[in-house]
Amino acid sequence: MAEYHCPDCRVTMEETAIQSESGGALTADSDDGSAVLEKVGMSTSTAVESVRCPECGLVRLYADGN
Ligand SMILES: [Zn+2]
Repeated sequence: MAEYHCPDCRVTMEETAIQSESGGALTADSDDGSAVLEKVGMSTSTAVESVRCPECGLVRLYADGN
């Protein structure tokens, strides 16, 4: 994965895992207005990757596949 830096501390953020209470993976809505994809039943959500700042604890989520 790409390297991310905390906007406050400027340190490298570490990969972390965030899950919903039910244990399912989090996804981000990636609807780009393509109605065709929805008509054929393709998902418009995409996986997210999460990173955490070891200094201040900031957690950021990045949508995959863009
Ligand atoms: Zn920080």
